[in-house]
Amino acid sequence: MTTINDLRSRFAGSLITPDHAEYGSARRVWNGMIDRRPALIARCSGESDVKAALGFARAERLPIAVRGGAHSIAGNSTVEGGVVIDLSGMRGVRVNRERRVAVAEAGLTWGGFDAATQESGLAVTGGLISTTGIAGLTLGGGIGWLMRKHGLTIDNLLAAELVTAEGKSVRASEDENGDLFWALRGGGGNFGVVTRFEYRLHPVQQIVGGLALYPAQRAKAILSYFRQICESAPDELTPMVAFLTAPPAPFVPEPLRLKPVVAIVLCYTGDLAEGERVVRPIKSYGPPAADLIGPMPYLALQSMLDAGAPAGMQNYWKASYLAGLSDTAIGVIIDHAARARSPLSQVHLQLIGGAVARVPADATAYAHRDAAFAMNIVGSWPDPAENELHKRWAREFAAAMAPHATGGVYVNFLGNEGEERVRAAYGEKTYARLAEVKQKFDPENAFRLNQNVEPRR
Ligand SMILES: Cc1cc2nc3c(=O)[nH]c(=O)nc-3n(C[C@H](O)[C@H](O)[C@H](O)COP(=O)(O)OP(=O)(O)OC[C@H]3O[C@@H](n4cnc5c(N)ncnc54)[C@H](O)[C@@H]3O)c2cc1C
Repeated sequence: MTTINDLRSRFAGSLITPDHAEYGSARRVWNGMIDRRPALIARCSGESDVKAALGFARAERLPIAVRGGAHSIAGNSTVEGGVVIDLSGMRGVRVNRERRVAVAEAGLTWGGFDAATQESGLAVTGGLISTTGIAGLTLGGGIGWLMRKHGLTIDNLLAAELVTAEGKSVRASEDENGDLFWALRGGGGNFGVVTRFEYRLHPVQQIVGGLALYPAQRAKAILSYFRQICESAPDELTPMVAFLTAPPAPFVPEPLRLKPVVAIVLCYTGDLAEGERVVRPIKSYGPPAADLIGPMPYLALQSMLDAGAPAGMQNYWKASYLAGLSDTAIGVIIDHAARARSPLSQVHLQLIGGAVARVPADATAYAHRDAAFAMNIVGSWPDPAENELHKRWAREFAAAMAPHATGGVYVNFLGNEGEERVRAAYGEKTYARLAEVKQKFDPENAFRLNQNVEPRR
């Protein structure tokens, strides 16, 4: 049996046990509602550490959590009494400017990844908040500002290197372990510990982006206008609409600060002059009470929304896909958004389509490519004593939206919602295919702290 002392002798990173000075901060994850005490946090420095930590956990029959950027809403990157294989120390990235390829270690966040690729004027579709990990986001699909032009993050994944449940190094790409490569693109952390991702990059530097704010009283007109924008949006334009509380920032007119607002947030990637032409009507519609839409570096847009997603809050989310945005659905959204009781809670509606929808549904494990919108009811508040109040808001909102939703859901926006919802995230066919790959690479379901696909026996 491998003891912790054996592990120490073979482990180059840090082994953080409950008596370690850093344990308190190391066990924290983004969602403050998750409060677990792992027996060991193995902060790996490379692939051999991953193998050693995994071998230890399996020999000791301890439950295993795998952690990248720790943004799992469900809290799947930590585990009570088990081993966290923590990749947050593995943040290397190499960019090949000529080939337009980046090879990135799995502990990077989008902030670190984008900063490195932007030095070469390149980017791949990444998350809206720079502190989110590339690993979890990529493995679930990856929706972001560049998706309508360049596809989901997984549509740009060229290869992944991982350590399997047996402790073997495996590379997955179109030419190697094709079944695994298919499953990794949407199937989450079910198949092993990914240590490296290889991405295709695209030239992206200045974009036209930002947000425009409107008082919540004008929500109906803004949502109808948003629908109109979506109907004719070119692939270069990825827009979203959000309900939020206006920050007390200088760009917000005094009477609107800390008040509920509706925001149109967007990114146009492509010719800048054309982008400015496309967004001109949006900038003058209303007109907005505050308008930050204009040319800016892609990196600026990639952290523009960070302040609205602080770590450590209580978070309870309810997500769905919508096929369209009817007047009735707009009415439900406005009604329930207005009932939010926390200034940190938000509602997001992201237009998908474009390049995402042109990839065949069975080409990867991300199944719901035909969904027009991803909707996310983001319940967020500081005080655990208020948990029931805000959870009820999100649940009632989701229930009222159900008749207008497709029934599918984006796996990366799921909380702990049970097997039925995991199946809904994939659909029957994709789920069955994932279960076969799971049986091949993790028949004992060692990697079960995730949106779990059970091995097909
Ligand atoms: C504030 C915020 C903003 C978000 N914005 C977006 C967005 O714009 N677009 C989007 O698509 N999603 C978004 N998400 C959802 C996000 O994609 C998921 O929460 C994702 O799981 C986060 O990845 P992570 O590495 O930070 O999380 P972690 O909690 O570290 O990991 C989540 C899960 O991924 C798996 N995993 C992580 N690392 C590995 C690895 N190396 N090998 C194998 N499995 C691994 C594990 O199953 C783990 O439980 C957002 C989430 C938050 C909280």
